[in-house]
Amino acid sequence: MKAAAFKYLRAENLDNAFDAFAEYGDEALILAGGQSLMPTINLRLAQPAVLVDINHISGLSGIEQSGEKIQIGATTRHFELANSELVASKLPLIASAIKHVAHRGVRNRGTFGGSLVHADPAAEMPACAVALGATLVLESRAGERRISASDFFLGVMSTDRRPDEILTSIELSADGPGDVWAFRELSRRHGDFAMVGVTAKARRASERLEDLRLVVFGCEECPQISAVAASLAASGQEPVAIAQAVAEELNPMTDLTGDAETKRFQARSLIEQSLGDLLEGRADG
Ligand SMILES: Cc1cc2nc3c(=O)[nH]c(=O)nc-3n(C[C@H](O)[C@H](O)[C@H](O)COP(=O)(O)OP(=O)(O)OC[C@H]3O[C@@H](n4cnc5c(N)ncnc54)[C@H](O)[C@@H]3O)c2cc1C
Repeated sequence: MKAAAFKYLRAENLDNAFDAFAEYGDEALILAGGQSLMPTINLRLAQPAVLVDINHISGLSGIEQSGEKIQIGATTRHFELANSELVASKLPLIASAIKHVAHRGVRNRGTFGGSLVHADPAAEMPACAVALGATLVLESRAGERRISASDFFLGVMSTDRRPDEILTSIELSADGPGDVWAFRELSRRHGDFAMVGVTAKARRASERLEDLRLVVFGCEECPQISAVAASLAASGQEPVAIAQAVAEELNPMTDLTGDAETKRFQARSLIEQSLGDLLEGRADG
């Protein structure tokens, strides 16, 4: 099948894109890496009137540090995250997880921002953004809006982004002393979307995990911090007990990779392993 006819607009600046939103409303779709959008259009699951290409807008791409904050431009490509020394040293969770996102060809085009807005429940970057407490910066003609990743994801491929907004950048805190992280994923083949995955960030103090932000993905409709994991970890519970409690609270979706109970079982195992990684300071799971 081929895409239905659409107009193409190469935006040179944000105003060009806002003009298109004003003219076409939600019939204007943003094109970033195109790795998710183009298949959708080719299958005619989306039939936009105009594609607004944001790849040539200066200032939307790049990775910069300012104090303890790292700012990642929305059109920064997956391969740039994978090759960045700054990301490797200050955001090691992203550096580890990005290797699980698709294959080299897709990573060459796909963007960090596109992955967040696409909001696939089995995608790695949305889950990492939530675990890391990222702030998303969205811009529209009305100005700038900042929203935490935890509030941004609403459901399966559903976010709080408004049709006239462009995600311009993502802000994350650089890892500090005592920070530990974990990333574990089960997939059919390396580079496939997760059947189930777990990502977490915490501070390790006196053999306990403080401020644990544990997220299970590929399981529920969207990535969320587990409150029960945080409270049980803070009270010094063993990983096996925490994993059991978190798994019981999950509301897994049945999908092509497994039924709900299989996913619950897989998640419990990955959570226990991830908590062990955090407590023992093992980096790549
Ligand atoms: C074969 C294959 C395997 C893949 N495997 C994985 C995988 O294992 N894990 C994984 O996470 N992903 C995977 N992907 C998806 C890939 O990571 C995509 O790059 C990503 O989901 C979307 O990024 P993109 O830049 O290509 O966005 P696009 O496809 O261009 O856009 C996706 C959606 O986001 C919107 N959008 C994009 N950027 C912005 C912005 N800045 N502001 C507002 N809206 C925006 C678009 O309008 C569109 O609705 C795979 C893709 C393919 C083709």
